[in-house]
Amino acid sequence: MAEKGFNAYKMAQAQFDDVADKLDLDESTRELLRKPMREYHFTIPVKMDDGSAKVFQGYRVQHNDARGPCKGGIRFHPQETADTVRALAMWMTWKCAVADIPLGGGKGGVICDPHDLSDREQERLCRGWIRQISKNIGPVEDVPAPDVMTSAQHMLWMMDEYEHIEGGKYPGAITGKPVGHGGSLGRTEATGYGVIYTVREALKELEIDITKTTAAVQGFGNVAQHAVELFTEYGGKVVLVSCWDQDDSKAYSYYRKDGIDLEELRGITDRYGTVDKEKAKELGYERLPGDDWLKQDVDILIPAALENAITGDNADEIKDTVKLIAAGANGPITPEADDILEEKDMMVIPDFLCNAGGVICSYFEQVQNNMNYYWPKEEVIGKLDDKMTSAFYKVMELAKRKDIPLKDAAYMISIDKVVEACKLRGWI
Ligand code: NAD
Repeated sequence: MAEKGFNAYKMAQAQFDDVADKLDLDESTRELLRKPMREYHFTIPVKMDDGSAKVFQGYRVQHNDARGPCKGGIRFHPQETADTVRALAMWMTWKCAVADIPLGGGKGGVICDPHDLSDREQERLCRGWIRQISKNIGPVEDVPAPDVMTSAQHMLWMMDEYEHIEGGKYPGAITGKPVGHGGSLGRTEATGYGVIYTVREALKELEIDITKTTAAVQGFGNVAQHAVELFTEYGGKVVLVSCWDQDDSKAYSYYRKDGIDLEELRGITDRYGTVDKEKAKELGYERLPGDDWLKQDVDILIPAALENAITGDNADEIKDTVKLIAAGANGPITPEADDILEEKDMMVIPDFLCNAGGVICSYFEQVQNNMNYYWPKEEVIGKLDDKMTSAFYKVMELAKRKDIPLKDAAYMISIDKVVEACKLRGWI
């Protein structure tokens, strides 16, 4: 998102440049990979409920498709920018590679605030987005999915529009669809659960018993809620979650020393992940400033909201009790913060490994769409756990062997794979 002084694309490029140096990549390879291969910027006219027309700005960026069709979510957010979408598309390329799924990196977005749009207006916006880009996406080119403030319903409207235009049934054109309409069981849970599979394995490496750990989570949307769900199921205790409050235009943290009650909090949270502050007070939650999520005496921090959450300015405020940081969101830790966390000797699970569960399950959804045969939930979740755990240990093994942070190891593995695909195809 656009924020003073922070540019996600510059950060993604700096992260790439750093590893490109370490891997001693040649100039043309760097040139190819530090920018998206293609990008589309377009306007989307939408008829509003009151009869007026409003024009929204839409994006789709395809960073690299050497390993397979591009894959990546679509965000609806008022502060969306072309550079944010570029960064997210690039991170998707690395994510698919580190997760070892045969897909490339893409991302999309619309500058809008869905809080201000009726369901019918959102449907027209989804259909409008597809009308502008349908020729450049599809099951064998680029497959969108949900992300911040987009849902399974948005994906179904998009798929329906795509099928109208193409004149056939193409469930594999979009993933994250509702179950029973081409969606996969387990997709909603996949990203948050995947975060916790990596937390579970990291804690084993750190020789810490998960049932004795506490965590604070930034965000309370799809990723955060499912991460809290599985972490609690494993016996851990979440003492704080935070969210953006639309009415006050700021974030709040909700704290309970004995641990939050997930179902209770879910019951007072809207579909965009905002907790009702009055009801939270009635239920006995202490309301703290939004930034307090990272100042807790906990073992684990899980940033699962947006990018630029842990920065050079606030990383020092993280308590020494913290042993593990699991980056559930995309780009939540800046390179300056990474350096500080390394000095503090905290293990950091990098975002594009930690939150790869979503795209892994989207890939499973496509596989099921292609077969037109759907797996039971246990099978999906079991396969997801296998993929996440195996990706985690490949990264951990390299990190140990070279005595480097997990982030560097993850980048080396994924960039290597993408470079190899580009070279074998004869592109560079
Ligand atoms: P979401 O829209 O469901 O939830 C976002 C949450 O973050 C909401 O609770 C919102 O209130 C909160 N939030 C926003 N700004 C905040 C702030 N400044 N402080 C505290 N909380 C804030 O989105 P999501 O799908 O859960 O995605 C969260 C992150 O995970 C994003 O970075 C997204 O790109 C990434 N991600 C999502 C998926 C997926 O499958 N949904 C997959 C991979 C990565």
